[in-house]
Amino acid sequence: MNRARNTTVKEFCALDPVPYFVDGEWSPGVADPIAVFDPANGLPVATVACADEAAVDSAARAARSAFDRGTWSRARPDERARQMNAWADLVDRDSEVLAEMETLQTGKPIRESRGDVARALDGLRFYAAAARNQRGEVIDVSDRHHSYVIRQPLGVVAAIVPWNVPIVLTISKVAPALAAGNSVIVKPSQTTPLTALYLAKLWEEANLPRGVYNVINGPGRSVGETLCLHPLVTGMSFTGGTDTGLHLGELAARQNKRVMLELGGKSPNIVLADADLTKAIPGAANAIFYGQGQICAAGSRLLVEAPIYDQVVEGVAAIASSLQIGDPLDEVTEFGCLTSQSHRDEILGWVDRATQDGASVAAGGHVASVPGLPNGAFMEPTVLVDVPPTAPISCEEVFGPVLVVQRVDGEEQAIAWANDSSFGLSAGVWSRDSGRARRIAGRLEAGVVWINDYGVFNPAMPFGGVKLSGSSHREWSHLALDAYLEHKSIWEANS
Ligand code: NAD
Repeated sequence: MNRARNTTVKEFCALDPVPYFVDGEWSPGVADPIAVFDPANGLPVATVACADEAAVDSAARAARSAFDRGTWSRARPDERARQMNAWADLVDRDSEVLAEMETLQTGKPIRESRGDVARALDGLRFYAAAARNQRGEVIDVSDRHHSYVIRQPLGVVAAIVPWNVPIVLTISKVAPALAAGNSVIVKPSQTTPLTALYLAKLWEEANLPRGVYNVINGPGRSVGETLCLHPLVTGMSFTGGTDTGLHLGELAARQNKRVMLELGGKSPNIVLADADLTKAIPGAANAIFYGQGQICAAGSRLLVEAPIYDQVVEGVAAIASSLQIGDPLDEVTEFGCLTSQSHRDEILGWVDRATQDGASVAAGGHVASVPGLPNGAFMEPTVLVDVPPTAPISCEEVFGPVLVVQRVDGEEQAIAWANDSSFGLSAGVWSRDSGRARRIAGRLEAGVVWINDYGVFNPAMPFGGVKLSGSSHREWSHLALDAYLEHKSIWEANS
């Protein structure tokens, strides 16, 4: 049963299947359609057309032809910016449609989806402006030459997107790649393809060039991998699981493609004894429970200095127990459902194993029931205390609403434990002493550190991780634009 309220969402989801979009044409697909489920009731919300390897080849050829035609790749930057803004205007107009679709396919509260759509829109406009702001460089090396560096698009970029924040992660790849002049092919997660497909509808409505924004669906291992390794695809940007990303990165490296990887995390959030707890406690709860904990940057390890440990545990557990769990479509819902029942059950399995390893449950730990939605993938926000730092749940990514709290004796131990991880995506530090907090931030092995805050984003600030959390490229900011550009050195002999 489709629970959509918005007529446009209903109509779009009623297409059977929702076609995918290649070279400005809608395709009914070549393989069995994929069902997209509403995790709040476990029922299909739509079916989408599915590609196969041959369809990937056609998409790559179409994207390359569009690139070679130059209607986008060689368009004047101000023209590209104008067209991206025309697309953004339609995203703005249909933001409620996109938010509802995002909630139906992910299970996140509608208020959170609205925030995601706003973030995607802001990112799109940021890169529309950036399209006009690309610069070359003159490097004088001798009086016999005029020597300079120009920046050019890579060609065709594959964007592989996971299920947790689909619209934001689609735009985080597509917008800089397009601003740089590339053609893109998006392969959304099979479980959450709707918003990337709806963006294609808006691309078409804005009358933007064919073959430049393409979306295909299909399983990662066949369709996704074939796309990334296609000889005409020169760059790939992947967000998803660490093992998948490393596997893909290895294969793509053999072809020397430009590879951007955003992978998992197990982010430490340090609360020092001198922190303002009226901010740190809600901040720590929000760091893990936002997005139902299914956020790569979630602050899933809370490291608390001994003197305030009990107070922080009590405060975070009280917030966890008071969050309004409910129908993701309800305006008042603060905490929606997980992506699927099987994912929820896996997370509950993590909680069971942690208690066997010696952890105690300070809040949650069970399936949550929501009236009228007996088959929804709901679970209680969970806080585990007294967790040994070497227990698997302290080291591995759970990707759900489970906070692990550990007592630390002082700053040095907090830093050592924070860095004792194979991941290095993000971290938090809470202290009234800003010099101390900055010093700690400098020593944390993470791509992003928040001081006295957590999880704030802006398209102008780079985002990405170190160690197993990602490749050296960054998403967002001017750095992401650069990641989708080649630098060409030109030597011109003076006549
Ligand atoms: P996943 O790795 O299973 O899938 C991600 C995407 O990759 C999907 O579109 C999938 O179809 C595709 N895929 C799978 N195998 C592939 C292959 N062999 N070749 C090409 N594509 C393939 O991950 P998921 O379960 O969708 O997402 C959850 C994971 O993503 C978590 O580990 C999380 O930490 C990570 N993540 C990281 C960030 C970040 O910015 N660092 C952001 C969001 C999610």
